[in-house]
Amino acid sequence: MDHLKLASIKSRPKTVIEVGNISIGRDFVIIAGPCSIESYEQTLEIAWAVKRAGAHMLRGGAFKPRTSPYSFQGLGMKGLKILEDTREITGLPIVSEVLDTRDVAWMCEYVDVLQVGARNMQNFSLLKEVGKSGKPVLLKRSMQSTLAELLNCAEYILNEGNPNVILCERGIRTFETYTRNTLDLSAVAALKELTHLPVIVDPSHGTGKASLVPAMCLAAAAAGADGLIIEVHARPEKALSDKEQALTPEEFAALATRILSLRKFVEGWS
Ligand code: PEP
Ligand code: MN
Repeated sequence: MDHLKLASIKSRPKTVIEVGNISIGRDFVIIAGPCSIESYEQTLEIAWAVKRAGAHMLRGGAFKPRTSPYSFQGLGMKGLKILEDTREITGLPIVSEVLDTRDVAWMCEYVDVLQVGARNMQNFSLLKEVGKSGKPVLLKRSMQSTLAELLNCAEYILNEGNPNVILCERGIRTFETYTRNTLDLSAVAALKELTHLPVIVDPSHGTGKASLVPAMCLAAAAAGADGLIIEVHARPEKALSDKEQALTPEEFAALATRILSLRKFVEGWS
């Protein structure tokens, strides 16, 4: 990885990114919320539930990169207004995906962290644009990319003068079909050797199955991840996207308690 100038661990020991009152890279961050923003009531209900359970930030897609053009594509601008209101009411910082270079500048007014999704990881125009914005960026590893490719994509953002990049392992495609993707937890330890950027894990997309999410969250926390991003829905069976992998608020609350007690042990190791 000698070609990396800015993302390399050789350039600095650690990056800490301040979002709201959390320091990502120093504090363990839990981001939770629905896959898609569906309505104001749905978003507010989930936001309060995850906040009560200990989440630090709210996730929710307003622009959805769907495999089929006939699937729900998200509420767009209306969804971002819902997120803005929800942040105002609950105080939770917002993470939401940006799909298009034309939306970067105005979306910065509505969100605290811009998510670049797995399908756009190597969209170099988008990487340059989020780089110019200076906003914290959550960069998800694509399902078919190596760690070197992921780090080169982070390098694009850093090279535009934006040091605020959070990497996210969300599962890669393998021959296994039982899980939606194969969650590569070795990526966490490997990225820690290679880069100073914070690394979080998304066991929701990583497994595609709600029943597997808790175990993979705990494993990610034990492996040294800087945080987790978890899909939660008040009524998963009614969710407009990714219903199979969403936890209920009750399941999320029970999991958050276990994650926080595991973190106490993990902090003792370092
Ligand atoms: C998401 O976070 O809802 C999402 C679409 O994730 P990914 O880009 O990892 O598939
Ligand atoms: Mn999703």
